[in-house]
Amino acid sequence: MEETLAVLPVSATGRVVTREQRDFFTRLPKVELHCHLLGAMREETFRDLARHYDAPIPADMAAGLYTRGRKPVGVLHALRAMEQYLLRRPEDLARLVREYLEDAAEAHVRHAEFFWNPTVTLNTHGLPYGEIQQAMVEAIEQAERDLGISALMIPAIDREAPPADAMVMVEEMLRHRHPRVAGIGIDYRENDGPPEWFADAYGLARQNGLRTTAHAGEFGMPWTNVGIAVEQLGVDRVDHGYTVIDNPVLAEGLKGRGMLFTVVPTNSYYLRVMKPEDWAHHHPIRKMLAMGLALHPNSDDPQLHRVSAAGAWELMYSHMGASRDDLRAMMLHGIAGSWASAERKAQWAAQWPLEFDMLAGAVEWEEGPSLRR
Ligand SMILES: [Zn+2]
Repeated sequence: MEETLAVLPVSATGRVVTREQRDFFTRLPKVELHCHLLGAMREETFRDLARHYDAPIPADMAAGLYTRGRKPVGVLHALRAMEQYLLRRPEDLARLVREYLEDAAEAHVRHAEFFWNPTVTLNTHGLPYGEIQQAMVEAIEQAERDLGISALMIPAIDREAPPADAMVMVEEMLRHRHPRVAGIGIDYRENDGPPEWFADAYGLARQNGLRTTAHAGEFGMPWTNVGIAVEQLGVDRVDHGYTVIDNPVLAEGLKGRGMLFTVVPTNSYYLRVMKPEDWAHHHPIRKMLAMGLALHPNSDDPQLHRVSAAGAWELMYSHMGASRDDLRAMMLHGIAGSWASAERKAQWAAQWPLEFDMLAGAVEWEEGPSLRR
């Protein structure tokens, strides 16, 4: 699973991660706030479902999808094929939930909030939303009993679909209101679906007490999308948000409000457009850290990015220059930005720093500049 750590250009790495440090990143108590169920689909599950449905998916798609090179290829077309052909019964989604939570628990994620996109599944297969949600909730409850991990679902708006479909999604969520479904997100190609188109759906969600987050400033899309997500959609946190660095005034304002950015060090866009020899040096996450923004690292599409939640944390240290204190702060930002109950968050905030200090105290840390160039 840690293949990404192996294929990333070594010349950009100033810190060689020791075995003890890698063990620390695994054992660190953590939440995960930004992971997509489709991107967490294991390769054998993909092949299994494709076979089961005799899906018209090109034979080489699975191989290409699950191979991470130095210049990752776009996977959105493959995600569409997965939605269209592989998720046809509620139990298919329940299986993905179960397998994702198994993988997350292995990386010592204690609480996960994950995205799934109802729109294509509902439109293509005519499955009732309530039935799918019920199957997924049962999978979460089972994982909680078996693995001790808690989880919340975040239905995400498909921004390539019309805004009316986003309204339908929120209405279905309200009709089948469940405490395991904490709020809404939005994803897919930001270039084709600016945040302001979805203000009504966000308004409806917020009026009814649902929490909100949004992918914004991904794929090199401008900082204005981050500003619109915060101001017009009223989001509680921002997924990615990288181009906020282009507007220091906006960044300063969001820092003052403690706005959480769920960042993804393996995000394909920057690995594609930046030079292999110095991508980590110019990566916006590094600048976001320097600006003092509240960041929290995540795996996003763990099976496709070939990275675990623990690996995402490791990259913040090895490639993004985070210090031991930054890591500790990010752990607390993750707790603060989570949508778990106030009681649980207070418990974590009291206990996890003690665990952090004990685990981190047993490891030697490099505090100097993290790039040897
Ligand atoms: Zn994402």
